[in-house]
Amino acid sequence: MVTYRRGGHVQSGDDAVERGCDHCGWHCVADGYPELIGRYQSHLRDEHPKAWLRT
Ligand SMILES: [Zn+2]
Repeated sequence: MVTYRRGGHVQSGDDAVERGCDHCGWHCVADGYPELIGRYQSHLRDEHPKAWLRT
């Protein structure tokens, strides 16, 4: 179990998921995997096109 403290928003429980970027310091916390994956993919596409193409 992980507790998130970011931007004053704290979530606990099974619904919150997080993902750090493998290529920079970008980090995302979302309420569910579909949202999280979508946000990470769009981050990759915008910031790391080469990594995006490899996925
Ligand atoms: Zn990144």
